[in-house]
Amino acid sequence: MDAQVNSLDAFWMPFSANRQFKSAPRLLVGAKDMHYTSHDGRQILDGSAGLWCVNAGHCRPRITEAIQRQAAKMDFSPAFQMGHPLAFETASRIASMLPEGLDHVFFSNSGSEAVDSALKMALAYHRARGEGGRTRLIGRERGYHGVGFGGISVGGISNNRKQFGAMLNGVDHLPHTHDLARNAFSRGQPLHGAELADYLERIVALHDPSTIAAVIVEPLAGSTGVLVPPVGYLGRIRDICTKYGILLIFDEVISGFGRLGAPFATDRFGIVPDILTLAKGITNATVPMGATVASAEVYEAFMHGPPGAIEFFHGYTYSSHPLACAASIATLDTYRDEGLFERAAELSPYFEEAAHSLSGLPHVIDVRNLGIVAGIELASRPGAAGARAYEVFVKCYEAGLLVRVTADIIAISPPLIVTRAQIDEIFGKLSEAIRSVA
Ligand code: PLP
Repeated sequence: MDAQVNSLDAFWMPFSANRQFKSAPRLLVGAKDMHYTSHDGRQILDGSAGLWCVNAGHCRPRITEAIQRQAAKMDFSPAFQMGHPLAFETASRIASMLPEGLDHVFFSNSGSEAVDSALKMALAYHRARGEGGRTRLIGRERGYHGVGFGGISVGGISNNRKQFGAMLNGVDHLPHTHDLARNAFSRGQPLHGAELADYLERIVALHDPSTIAAVIVEPLAGSTGVLVPPVGYLGRIRDICTKYGILLIFDEVISGFGRLGAPFATDRFGIVPDILTLAKGITNATVPMGATVASAEVYEAFMHGPPGAIEFFHGYTYSSHPLACAASIATLDTYRDEGLFERAAELSPYFEEAAHSLSGLPHVIDVRNLGIVAGIELASRPGAAGARAYEVFVKCYEAGLLVRVTADIIAISPPLIVTRAQIDEIFGKLSEAIRSVA
């Protein structure tokens, strides 16, 4: 079939209801700072930082110009057995922002690739140390780790798994931490649920520690609908991993780069993983980039054998792409010079108040928040899970606000340049939209 030029047919949209969208499209044609411009010329306030990724706001000249300059200077350089200076600079900059010990940065092009790289790194690490029997990977229910086979295997969102067969062998899952009966309307970290981490002891006992390579969790689960870790939970996971020689992987694709009111979740919670994944805010979403950061111990385990040996048989054509590196350096400069992580911390209490002002609204069964992230959970209509929040999403868009919905949960995560007045506008418009749906 010939695809008509300019028809909406040819593009098979990701994670979208294609037929529904194409019958009433929502197209964005421009972006600046806190706003998108829609195809019908309206300004849309960005309540979701694109997809949790435009942390410094849209089309920032410093970042745009850095990309333009690099595109004109050197468009591409092969990353295998070759290098370019910006790759080393970007890696050093990222390592210097992370807690001591998280020192070695492996580049990819997305969060999904960063996760698959982390899982492969964990398996290969144990093998390099003579513990090749450690092949099991432990994820968590409701976890989102992208869409590679590794990511969906350790991930725990059933819709993302059920179309795709058996996936990786030898994966087990921790229980999720969502517990409205005990934690509804928590401000910041919920008080109940640290004991859910002890389930890892049961998994370890079931499979034997000598078979387990790594545990991967999002410190704050974003895509499933903002699940904030209970007080003490991540510390217990860390302790159990350490006790049994299991690597802990933090997937910081969303929580990295200031979103939680600290540079990274590892800073926010004071828990240091062995491997940490990044993407999204790493370039302010201007050029696709992912990164997997390994501890010195993990890296050193690979650095043996003859000096001419390739230590890790893994990489992507576009690992450390020059445009992505230029974008990342300019982005990190912007975060630093504008104090955006500090700004996020400062705004957090105001953001929390604004989010919790939605608490008494019809259908709202929970409001939860941390840093510049909030989740508002609505009661589902009987037999129509997700329909109510989708209507809220459309009404917000019509009113000039972009939000993100998952099932019946609305996630708010604006760029960190958001002002107090814009926070009021976001929650004001959202409140009206929630009131207007049946
Ligand atoms: N990991 C986490 C925690 C994410 O939130 C996401 C995306 O939302 C990913 C991985 C996948 O990233 P990407 O869509 O860039 O592949």
